[in-house]
Amino acid sequence: MGGTKCVCTLGTGPDDIRAQETLPTRDPATTLPAMADLLSRWNTGVGAIEAIGVASFGPIDLRRDSPHYGRIGATPKAGWANVALLEFFAKRFAVPVGLTTDVIGAALAEGRWGDARKLTDFVYVTVGTGIGAGLIVAGKSVFGCHHPELGHVRIARFAGDTWPGSCPFHGDCLEGLASGPAIAARAGTTAGSIPVGSAIWETVAHALAQLAHVLVVTVAPQRILFGGGVISAQPHLLPRIRKSLALSLNSYLHIPEMADRDGYIRPPGLGTAAGPLGALAVAADTYAERTA
Ligand code: ADP
Ligand code: ZN
Repeated sequence: MGGTKCVCTLGTGPDDIRAQETLPTRDPATTLPAMADLLSRWNTGVGAIEAIGVASFGPIDLRRDSPHYGRIGATPKAGWANVALLEFFAKRFAVPVGLTTDVIGAALAEGRWGDARKLTDFVYVTVGTGIGAGLIVAGKSVFGCHHPELGHVRIARFAGDTWPGSCPFHGDCLEGLASGPAIAARAGTTAGSIPVGSAIWETVAHALAQLAHVLVVTVAPQRILFGGGVISAQPHLLPRIRKSLALSLNSYLHIPEMADRDGYIRPPGLGTAAGPLGALAVAADTYAERTA
């Protein structure tokens, strides 16, 4: 489930997708029943559903001990704050239902089927309308008292850059500097129409490399995958991020995984399917958990 569209998929993995349909994200009273109707039709017409996985935009309350467990939090998306997502599906389908964030889902999909297979510690970062990161550490998604919100990390600014940033909460946090809308706000035009040679991309690459720096010195991932609409539309960013990360770390750490610079920071192996496959990965994990 994303801010603009919800991709519903029936299957067991990327090589076995039995049905897939994209629905626009409207208000919850329209969108959720439309998804449930689709799943019901598939359940009787295509193949029996054994588990449901939901990977959604957040924030989401994922604390099992919370009275708001399974609900969307304070999203600016009209009508969606406090919506009981998990309960909605669990009430309608007599199968295990799992819920996580869009980026944790994508990270799980990359770990199961994509470019993070066999890795125990890795991160999936999306740079699109917002910025988010799904962290897998020691084989599990990181969750303390909340899911991480690394899009809102504060970073060292690009030298000489004083643009105040566009995050309504923090101004020049990472999302306020490097999300698609932030880039567009700074440029005064759409991100897609900024020339590759523009200095704006230097500030964007710098900001994203700062996130990579933070990740390297905190959870020390074996690999960082960068996906999302901004990265896929601007492939020149990845080499710039790698270069800026090397400059930022300044030879402080000698990590074999990072010696292969192209391999350490790279696009998701599943490409733009990483997000939609995240829901399948959650379903598979939930099924395995409940039937263990
Ligand atoms: P979302 O984040 O909404 O789930 P995406 O990851 O596909 O979806 O990202 C969409 C965002 O990508 C848009 O909000 C826009 O800011 C940005 N974007 C779209 N086209 C381009 C482009 N050509 N260059 C840079 N950014 C773009
Ligand atoms: Zn912020």
